[in-house]
Amino acid sequence: MDAFHYDGNTLYCERVKIKDIVSETGTPVYIYSKNAILTRFNELKTAFQEVDATICFSVKSNSNLSVCKILADEGSGFDVVSGGELFRALKAGGKPSKIVFAGVGKTDKEIQYALENDIFMFNVESIAEIEHINAAACRAGKTAKVALRINPDIDAKTHAKTTTGKKENKFGIDLIVAETIIEKAKAYTNVTICGIHVHLGSPIYSADPYVNALKKITMFMEKCRNAGINIQYLNIGGGYCISYTGEKVIEPKDYSTQILPFAKEMKCRVIMEPGRFITGNSGILVTSVIYNKQNSHGKKFVICDAAMNDLLRPALYDAFHRIWPVNTSVAMPDVETPDTSVAKQGMDLVDIVGPVCESSDVFAKDRAIPPVNEGDLLAIFSAGAYGFTMSSSYNSRPRSCEILVDRDKYIVIRKRETYEDLIAGEELV
Ligand SMILES: *Cc1c(COP(=O)(O)O)cnc(C)c1O
Repeated sequence: MDAFHYDGNTLYCERVKIKDIVSETGTPVYIYSKNAILTRFNELKTAFQEVDATICFSVKSNSNLSVCKILADEGSGFDVVSGGELFRALKAGGKPSKIVFAGVGKTDKEIQYALENDIFMFNVESIAEIEHINAAACRAGKTAKVALRINPDIDAKTHAKTTTGKKENKFGIDLIVAETIIEKAKAYTNVTICGIHVHLGSPIYSADPYVNALKKITMFMEKCRNAGINIQYLNIGGGYCISYTGEKVIEPKDYSTQILPFAKEMKCRVIMEPGRFITGNSGILVTSVIYNKQNSHGKKFVICDAAMNDLLRPALYDAFHRIWPVNTSVAMPDVETPDTSVAKQGMDLVDIVGPVCESSDVFAKDRAIPPVNEGDLLAIFSAGAYGFTMSSSYNSRPRSCEILVDRDKYIVIRKRETYEDLIAGEELV
C-alpha cells in the first residue's frame, strides 16, 4: 500500500486522514510518512546488500531532525554539504564514523569542526581544498581521510541545473588534475587518500551514466594503486530517481545489478548517498485554495496559500509535481505527465499558483483538475525531498510546519514560523 492513498474520497497518509491533520495545523503543511521513509531506505539497502553498502542519507534533501533520526536509528550514515548539516546530523544521533562531507567550498572553520568530530571522510573537490584539509589536520594533530570527488565529464541526462558531473560544472576534480594530486600525495602528511567519490547529478533515470562514470574511474583506480595509493572506498553518490508522474521508473536493483560488478572488480567498500530516493515520495505539501480567478482571455488560476517560498522546485527547475484535491470523488489518474493534462469532461484546466509577487510562482501550468472552491485542500505530491529544505521566508511569509505520520499517529516535527520568528535576530536601530 502506498503511504499516500485515497479511501472514501479523502486522502490519507498511512492511517491518518490528511484533512484531520490540517484541521489542527492549518496550511501550508508538509506531511511525511515515517514508514515510507523506512521502506525506501531498506529497498536500497537490500539492493546493495551483497556488498554491504554504507548508506549515507543526503541531509540536504530533507534535514528535519526527526527525519534524520529515523534514518540514524535504522543504521544510516549521513552525507553533509555544510557545517550546519553536520551539526544537524550529529544532533539527530548520526554516528560521526558514518558521516561524509562533500561540497566545493568547505571553509577552514567547517573543516576544523568536522575534524573535531572525527567524521568518516571528506569528499575533496579541489587541490586548494586538500591543502586546507591537510593544514587543518596538522593543526589538530590528526589524519584526515579523504575521497577524491571525480568529475568524470558524464552527461547524467537530467535538468541543466541539476547535473553535476560535466566538465563545465563546478563540482569535483577532473581526471588530469586528480592524477597530479596522486603524484603529490606524499606531500599531504596529514591526509590519507582512501576513496574515490562521484556524484553525477539528480534525478537520474537510467543506470547508464553511473556505468559510464565507473568505466572511467576503473582506469583511474588502477593508476592510484600503481602509484601506491590504497583506495578502499568507492562512493557512488546519489541521484537515484523517483517517479514524479506515476510512471514506472527504474528500481534500486536495476542500478545495483549494473553498478556492483564495478565495485567488486575494484575490491572496494561501497558508499552511497541517496536523498531524493528516500524522502521524495515520502512527503507531500498540502495547501488551501484562497481564490479562483479567471481573466478575460479565458485563463483560469487557482491561487493557493503555498508558494515558491514553500516549494521552490517548479520555479527553479521547471519541476513537475502531481497536484490533486485532498477531498474529491474524482480518482487521481494513475499517471500524469506535463503532456497528458488535457481538459476532460468535468475538469478545469488551470494554472495553480501561489501568492508570491513573482511570475515564476507557479506550481502547475494548464493542469486538469476537478473544479475546486475557496478553502478546498490540494495535495502537492513528491514534495518530501528538496521541499522544506529549500524553503525561505521570501515575501515575509513564515515557513510552513512539518508533520510526521507513523501509522495512525502524527506529530509536529517543526512548528510553523510566526511573525515574531520572521524578525528574530534583527535589530531595530
Ligand atoms: C545532493 C547530493 C546527493 C543526493 O542526491 P539525491 O538526488 O537526492 O539522491 C548526494 N551526494 C552529493 C554530493 C550531493 O550533493
